[in-house]
Amino acid sequence: MEDDDIAAGYCCDDMETCLSAGPDAALFEHDSGLILLNAGRTEQDGEEGNLLISVQFCPFCGTELQTDEDIDAALEAVD
Ligand SMILES: [Zn+2]
Repeated sequence: MEDDDIAAGYCCDDMETCLSAGPDAALFEHDSGLILLNAGRTEQDGEEGNLLISVQFCPFCGTELQTDEDIDAALEAVD
């Protein structure tokens, strides 16, 4: 492995940069522990909000961040 120098919890420097940028970044860590992609604004049933999509693989380095099971479990915990 060549990623020994990367801070724990991050698969690569680019992901660390995104997740360190805060909740307004395109990629961020949700309260549930999931890493979500903010795909923009959406309107549903007259209510405006952020369109959030869970990210299974890091878009920068391709590391698997969370499995379908992880995502399902986290979403159930939120509901
Ligand atoms: Zn990565």
